[in-house]
Amino acid sequence: MEITVAKSAGFCFGVARALEMVEQCAQDKETTYHTLGPIIHNKHVVDELAGRGIAPIESVSEAKPGDNVIVRTHGVGKAVYEEMKNREIGITDVTCPFVKKIHNIVEKHYKEGYTIVIIGDKNHPEVQGINGWCENKAVILGSEEEAKSAKFDEKPLCVVSQTTFMQKIFKKIVFFLKNTCNDILIFDTICSATEERQNEAHALASVSDMMIVLGGRNSSNTQKLYSICKSVCAETYVLEHIGELDAQLYNNSKKVGITAGASTPAVIIKEAICKMENFESFESLVEESLKTLNTGDVVKGTVIEVRPNEVIVDLGAKQDGFIPAGEISDDPNVTTADIVKPGDEIEVFVVRVNDADGNIILSKRKLDSAKTWEAVKAAAEEGTVLEGKVTETVNKGMIVAYKGYKVFIPESQASERRVSDLSGLVGNVVAFKIIDINERRKRLVGSVRSVLEAQKKELEEKFWADAEVGKIYNGVVKSLTNFGAFVDIGGVDGLVHISELSWKHIKHPSEVVSEGDAIEVYIKDINAETKKISLGFKKAEDNPWEVVKSKIEVGGTTTVKVVRIMPYGAFAEIIPGVDGLIHISQIANRRIEKPQDELELGQEVEVQVTEIDWDAKKIALSIRALLAPEAPAEEAAPEVPAAEEAAPVAEEAPAEETPAEADAE
Ligand code: SF4
Repeated sequence: MEITVAKSAGFCFGVARALEMVEQCAQDKETTYHTLGPIIHNKHVVDELAGRGIAPIESVSEAKPGDNVIVRTHGVGKAVYEEMKNREIGITDVTCPFVKKIHNIVEKHYKEGYTIVIIGDKNHPEVQGINGWCENKAVILGSEEEAKSAKFDEKPLCVVSQTTFMQKIFKKIVFFLKNTCNDILIFDTICSATEERQNEAHALASVSDMMIVLGGRNSSNTQKLYSICKSVCAETYVLEHIGELDAQLYNNSKKVGITAGASTPAVIIKEAICKMENFESFESLVEESLKTLNTGDVVKGTVIEVRPNEVIVDLGAKQDGFIPAGEISDDPNVTTADIVKPGDEIEVFVVRVNDADGNIILSKRKLDSAKTWEAVKAAAEEGTVLEGKVTETVNKGMIVAYKGYKVFIPESQASERRVSDLSGLVGNVVAFKIIDINERRKRLVGSVRSVLEAQKKELEEKFWADAEVGKIYNGVVKSLTNFGAFVDIGGVDGLVHISELSWKHIKHPSEVVSEGDAIEVYIKDINAETKKISLGFKKAEDNPWEVVKSKIEVGGTTTVKVVRIMPYGAFAEIIPGVDGLIHISQIANRRIEKPQDELELGQEVEVQVTEIDWDAKKIALSIRALLAPEAPAEEAAPEVPAAEEAAPVAEEAPAEETPAEADAE
């Protein structure tokens, strides 16, 4: 006998999702949960859940305020949600997203004035739930005949379908409606899982001698599968479990096909195969396969299939385990395929070994989380630096995500200096240390500041270990003051005094550098005790007194600019940073009362260099030397006052008095 099981047999996406959510409710021991009607059309699953405290109720009125009602995949009408809200009953909504979509379509179009038409079984809870989104005013059509006898008003029609309705009948009804009504919107809301299951069942039944449809007799989609299979395979049986099938029936069949409704657990399908293949007892096989596995075990397995909503793992036992998508990773942005691929060796945590589906529920996330927690504790003890991304700011701090855990960083620990607005850090990856752990509540407190301080200390130690006068550093200007610029030279700050910033006189460091500038500096002086570092910035080769040596010589001529005028003469700039003195007696070839009689500030004049004292940095200049001698003076030149006599013949550009200041005088 050849047994073929339809690939799509068993739980659909919506049911698997719902059971996963209900499983999470079952873990919550503090709340009383009820399902509004049986969670799925399967007694075994419903009984198992009831045994764990989640029993079905027929109506919301049976729940007490504070209880939580699980709305099953079929969904319910709007009024039911409102009633629960008003009575302060919690809601766990496991309505299949495909059904929810129909609710939205119906609510929107009903409000816009359409008459809602639901193609489906008027007694099915899903159809009743959909009708509850248009004040129960929908026209419900279960057959072409009903469509033909239906009365419609003048309004446009909005047509939707029960998700598990038969595609063939849906098309016939739609065909009729389109020919009857001009203003009509059709939404084919038959679930693709249902359609796929029905098509596959049809194909399998067509090539089988006998077809078994496993599922609840009160399940709409099981009944539809039965009809489809029966239409092409006379020997079609619908069974809730294989025990209902007489062995004599299938023993004569060569080809047996098996399909199952969307609410049929895999265990029932497996049981059927076992029985037909003459295994003695399916239960004993399950026992045998599971006896070495217990809840809480950590086991290794091999990934055999990766589906969007689960990963199947071969654990080396007769039963495979499965990891629901939500148990793969903490990261909601990754898919199962991002994490594992078929063939991967994987270590997993056994969540349960006797779930209603007969499979072993596994979790990678829990194991990863437990491993991470241990690693975090070790990191806290050892002071290890961890890295995480700042995800949000919260009251008095920010949150850093670290491998599925949230680490709270208080404001005072977020940077070297307390900052109250941390929003600029959101999205940044930061290094931090764990400074406090609450084991029971799994809470972590971290510090970025401690990492920054440690890094700073390390850099400081490294600096002082090999700092020496003359050593050159690439630094960054951190701040400016009136007396100079503080420069970060790699973990320590040094000061470039204002006089060290330029060979020229400057009034403020900002004339030369700005905060954030990268500059090359060298150590002029250091004091390891006081930790004071004096830095030099201006370069010897830029010293104008060195530069000017190659430009002038005694007896040579040059053009200079008058920059200051004194009673005894005028100072003139030879090059920026070097001024020479044109003594009053050297300004003209005749006696003058005062320098201003011949010169003004800013005036450029041709001079001869008459004397240079490089050590004293004095240069004497003369205009007169370049002029033709005048007729002999009738009177002797006036005596130069004693103070003027004592005046220098030339001087270095004064630091305390700029040409501009001289001009102001
Ligand atoms: S059959 Fe389709 S619509 Fe119904 S619960 Fe399953 S996935 Fe959702």
